[in-house]
Amino acid sequence: MNGKRKLILIIRGDYMYTFFPVIQPDELLFSIYARYHERSLNKNENKTMEELHLTKINPFLPKNIQYLIKELKYFDVPDKDYFLTFHSMYNYISNFISPDDNRGLYLYMTDGTGKVEPHVSDKFFSKKKYLKYCPVCNQRDFKTLGESFWRLSHQLPTLFICLEHEISLKRVDTPNHEVGLKTIPKNELNVFFQETFTKKTMFYVKKFAKQSVLLNRVKLNLYNSIQSQNFYHLFVEKGLMTGSEIDVKKLEKEIVEFFGKEFLELSGFSKALFIEIKERPLFFSNSMTPVETLVLINFFFDSLSGMLLYNNRTPKREIASSLLVELLL
Ligand SMILES: [Zn+2]
Repeated sequence: MNGKRKLILIIRGDYMYTFFPVIQPDELLFSIYARYHERSLNKNENKTMEELHLTKINPFLPKNIQYLIKELKYFDVPDKDYFLTFHSMYNYISNFISPDDNRGLYLYMTDGTGKVEPHVSDKFFSKKKYLKYCPVCNQRDFKTLGESFWRLSHQLPTLFICLEHEISLKRVDTPNHEVGLKTIPKNELNVFFQETFTKKTMFYVKKFAKQSVLLNRVKLNLYNSIQSQNFYHLFVEKGLMTGSEIDVKKLEKEIVEFFGKEFLELSGFSKALFIEIKERPLFFSNSMTPVETLVLINFFFDSLSGMLLYNNRTPKREIASSLLVELLL
């Protein structure tokens, strides 16, 4: 910052910027707010909320990013689309929802005017009452940075391990999102209990992790491909029908055999999906979370790219890049 800018800040009395943390790669926007709060020494979170122009805290659904950018203009921060892609779950969520819901979500997150429909918030935010972190990344952060930060990729609903360290993530419960502006806690133990998974589980855990990161980087617009009607055709094609009805018992058996019980339990896959498919064969997709959606996609197509190729509606360039990311990431 040059002298003139500094002077402007002092004249305006904007001392808050002195405390603004350096934004880390893959850092969740909420984490930036939480680290700012810790540095600011504000006793009351409301004071911080006021300074950052926040009305409520939902770690996964930041509102009015434009305001933050406007206030931080002295630091030459990138634009709102950069924050959406690299510091929020916007791309990930938008891949699963309709164009109308997308517009509402975009406006809500960028300038605070749009509305996030209840079926979107229920699916992605309301049921998710925890934040996740990797204990090894955490220890390294404290060693190198003196503090740690919430990583965006670790919060993705279909990512269960740290891809760098290949260990499962720890959860910090946030009942009813009463998380406050909490920074990531220091992992005190040098030795921590590590679950071991079967090779098959690790295979799918890694596969889902790569696909999750891809979904958060690239807009693949899955919405039209993940509707009940599309899956209905696949049930028919795969011989999963008894007469005119879907044989959900056979479907369940094949899905459990395909992924293994351990993986399905770890992922939080809900078996209520099979009841939904039986009762509402042409409307069940409305109730699917990203976990159930990725389970069906991988069961039928083996990969995200497989589905894009099958539906042949996605530009070839995007299919090629998604194939590459799924293979190499
Ligand atoms: Zn890690």
